[in-house]
Amino acid sequence: MQINSNFEKLVPNYLFADVAKKTNEFSKAHPDREIIRLGIGDVTLPLSSAVVDAMKKGCDDFSSKETFKGYPEYEGYDFVRQAVAAYYRSFGVTVDESEVFISDGAKSDCGNIGDIFSKDNTVLLPDPVYPVYADANIMAGRKILYAPSSEENHFLAMPDRSVKADIIYLCSPNNPTGAAYNASQLKEWVDYALEQNAVILYDAAYEAFIQDDLPRSVFSIDGARECAIELCSLSKTAGFTGVRCGYTVIPKELSRNGRSLHELWYRRQATKFNGVSWAVQCAAAAVFTEEGRKQCLENIRYYRENAKMLSDMLDTLGIYYTGGKNSPYLWLKCPDNMGGWEFFDYLLQNAGVVGTPGEGFGTQGKGCFRMTAFNSHENTAEAVRRITKLFQSK
Ligand code: PLP
Repeated sequence: MQINSNFEKLVPNYLFADVAKKTNEFSKAHPDREIIRLGIGDVTLPLSSAVVDAMKKGCDDFSSKETFKGYPEYEGYDFVRQAVAAYYRSFGVTVDESEVFISDGAKSDCGNIGDIFSKDNTVLLPDPVYPVYADANIMAGRKILYAPSSEENHFLAMPDRSVKADIIYLCSPNNPTGAAYNASQLKEWVDYALEQNAVILYDAAYEAFIQDDLPRSVFSIDGARECAIELCSLSKTAGFTGVRCGYTVIPKELSRNGRSLHELWYRRQATKFNGVSWAVQCAAAAVFTEEGRKQCLENIRYYRENAKMLSDMLDTLGIYYTGGKNSPYLWLKCPDNMGGWEFFDYLLQNAGVVGTPGEGFGTQGKGCFRMTAFNSHENTAEAVRRITKLFQSK
């Protein structure tokens, strides 16, 4: 018996554990200091009432013989798939409901989608990026290449035609940099993927934060239906981090080696996934109703206001950053050439504010730092006051 030796190749990522350890040690040593956490990658506001009411109603259905639900469909109930397709239509993208797969979240799909691809494919990842893409492909034994992003390209990695790739992960708006592609940048990626016969795995988990005239879906780009799969999540759109629901869209015409990727994914899900609970899918459908969308947007507006406070602060202090406008994340270059961990310690000790060192998201994250909008207005305003005071007194 042999274990999957690819696990030996995983680089231990103790980022959040180290952040928690350092923060707790500081707290213990300074019990009088109130710490503000701007490193949170989880939502902080409760679910909207439209969502909770729909979930309660879904739970009630389990209690009577007439309305009881057993195993759900592998690909999701039709009414939820229809709601997702209608949501796409609301911003001008045509997706057929039969192309939508409801899932327990984008993280699982980002990792599991690899099941339909050979392990011999080369994967291209932007650097820095959400670490799940790298780890899932290391576990599968795939070769990984990186497309670097930096201040030079405003932390938006672009294709290099001399690089040959088969599977390309893109994340826009990006975690951790908050940077989002415009249509012409995304078109470059789509053209590159088509030239290479590659498949783009497009993670749109933060699309609901887009305010500017930027693509909310890769399928708004010509040619994407022949080369892209889109993965999306209700976690940040509607506060579903604990509820668990997302969706993946695979166009019917997307095929490789003469096989439909939609059919392969259906086969994969039917084998290894037993669907999302009826009550959760009722809640998910409620997100896309008029009232649900209004309420979810109110929460997003709240986080946007926090992001605006942080971006105004960085503007005032003259610190370079990306994100904050179409994203809950702000990604900054640490002042005075500090490393990410150095800046972490500096902020913690001098302002009692916690963020996330960029080093945890890839080699290009060196000397960078992530702050998030997932906190209260009061805490965010206080963090802004402390950081501004710290830098203005330097
Ligand atoms: N994709 C990105 C880029 C994320 O940042 C996250 C969560 O932080 C996810 C996916 C996970 O989404 P879900 O909660 O739907 O699994």
